[in-house]
Amino acid sequence: MPNKSNFHIAVLPGDGIGIDVTEEAVRVLRAVEQRLGSFTLKMTNHESGAICYQRTGNDLPRETLNACRQADAVLLGAMGHPDIRKPDGTELTPQVTLRVVFDLYAGVRPCKLYPGVRSPLANIKPGDIDLVILREQTEGLFASQMGGIVLGDQVATDTLVMTRKGSERISEFAFQLAQSRRQKVTCVDKANIFKSYAFFRRVFDEVAAKHPTIAKQHTYIDAQALFLVQKPQQFDVLVTENMFGDILSDLAAGLIGGMGMAPSGDIGDHHAVFQPAHGTAPDIAGKGIANPIAAILSAGMMLDWLGRRHQNADLVAGGRLIECAVTEVLEEGKSMPVDQGGAATTQTVGLAITARIEKLPF
Ligand code: ATP
Repeated sequence: MPNKSNFHIAVLPGDGIGIDVTEEAVRVLRAVEQRLGSFTLKMTNHESGAICYQRTGNDLPRETLNACRQADAVLLGAMGHPDIRKPDGTELTPQVTLRVVFDLYAGVRPCKLYPGVRSPLANIKPGDIDLVILREQTEGLFASQMGGIVLGDQVATDTLVMTRKGSERISEFAFQLAQSRRQKVTCVDKANIFKSYAFFRRVFDEVAAKHPTIAKQHTYIDAQALFLVQKPQQFDVLVTENMFGDILSDLAAGLIGGMGMAPSGDIGDHHAVFQPAHGTAPDIAGKGIANPIAAILSAGMMLDWLGRRHQNADLVAGGRLIECAVTEVLEEGKSMPVDQGGAATTQTVGLAITARIEKLPF
């Protein structure tokens, strides 16, 4: 990709707390843009989600989809509402549609325990947990989404699909990611029971052979759930099938302070969407108390991804600046979000992080 410094970000706040946390992520991005002064972020807001569906009959209007296609990256809040559903009763999931349309095969879910945040695990200190769950997002058990079969009200089946292409590219992504981290990849599967997972493991091993300097290991999903609770310090990048990744990433988020602390990136070869791992949290929507840190860290991941893709070191530095500012605010503890035992509103947390960005050296 050629070097460039003007970027278009399509912003999709969505529903519920997605709207509140996105406002703070945008505030922080503006602060980084001003602080570094060497790139511009043209951020345009676009409608999507459950309220949009209620109003227009479409949860991802064509205009929004086109904006996402043309943008350099997409920043998303959260989408959906328990009371607004399609005629068949299923939930609206435009964020999943984006994964399919743009082939966003890598679900990158960093889980890091920051200072000032308490883990439910005993004897775990900040810095002890710093891992990434890498979830394959285009196949696995989700390949069957809406395509399962119910026979005569007696038998139901969903089919798990693994392809060579899908297994290869997610494994390659895992090794590339580990290269810039602690150089260790764990393949999580159930290869002792299922042919599909044995195939995934075989392809993973073939890819691993091309990366001899990076340590690899295998675990079974059941044992991995145990290890994440018993010894999370030992893991760096964990690569796994769609459904296992879905479950493991929520477990890992639970270890680092909950959904309000868990950022994510849905990344493909040509497009990427960055969003907090949490949903719209209707129970706290509109109260101004949602933790915006997951959304803000997702915005930091977006800068890092854009910077690496376009060889722009300042964007990568911008991503680091966001992480440093979040770390300092949490360490200081004066503007602690409500879900972390503090009393700071969504906006107060965003403003505290913005103020740090204005002061931090880079
Ligand atoms: P979905 O079905 O899309 O995952 P959900 O509302 O059922 O949405 P989440 O939004 O992921 O589930 O979160 C579950 C609960 O965790 C929320 O009801 C809320 O209490 C809490 N929570 C999630 N995100 C945050 C946040 N950013 N700040 C504070 N609490 C949060």
